[in-house]
Amino acid sequence: MSRTPLLAGNWKMNLALDEAVQLAAAVVESCRGLAGREVMVAPAFLHIPAVARVLQGTSVLLAGQNMCWEKRGAFTGEVSGPMLKEAGASMVILGHSERRHVFGEDDELINRRLRGALACDLTPILCLGETLEEREADQIFEVLEGQLLRGLGGLDPEEANRVVLAYEPVWAIGTGRTAGPEQAREVHAFLRSVLADRFEKTLAESVRILYGGSVNPENIDSLMAEPDIDGALVGGAALKSESFDRIIHFAS
Ligand code: PEP
Repeated sequence: MSRTPLLAGNWKMNLALDEAVQLAAAVVESCRGLAGREVMVAPAFLHIPAVARVLQGTSVLLAGQNMCWEKRGAFTGEVSGPMLKEAGASMVILGHSERRHVFGEDDELINRRLRGALACDLTPILCLGETLEEREADQIFEVLEGQLLRGLGGLDPEEANRVVLAYEPVWAIGTGRTAGPEQAREVHAFLRSVLADRFEKTLAESVRILYGGSVNPENIDSLMAEPDIDGALVGGAALKSESFDRIIHFAS
């Protein structure tokens, strides 16, 4: 089963508007002539319309960093799926470790957001990951299985097939520490086995599973050499055009 690699940059709450526009233009430049892989950027909400103008007519995909499960209404501080789509996004990151651990989002809330995304025809990237304490207490598989099954709760196979997963160990995000390719391999294979049990084997083989956590130009080739790693969700290294360019051009 061939899965198109996805290299996704999560810009978080970084960059001024003009910097975001310049970085988007550099990513477009990096993607010229690129074949067989997809590239996505997730700017801050307020920067999405300006970045969308730069990306218009190019292959670079645009994502929100979160979204509300409802289409409109009294949800102060939230942004809806239709708003994201109207602004030019086709994807949305959900359940990012910072949403879970800084803002207290739980699996049920993330599942509501995810079902809202699918209902609006946005492709969700569902992030999963264990903390260091959970890894050290040998709870990693239990934690990830729970996040995955609750995150995908209520979905039928057709909907689950539209989800992209991102395994992002919390201890590796923004820390410079990264899961080695073999650690990531073990987890990705485990996530596929959970998908196969919950849905079916063909679905488990077609869903893309990205790795995230201090991905950089030095480690991208060895991570992408793993057959079960279908791309990367990149934070810090996506903020510099040269390093993201190198990541996009990983050796295949
Ligand atoms: C992230 O925020 O999803 C991430 C993986 O960040 P970093 O690459 O900086 O670790």
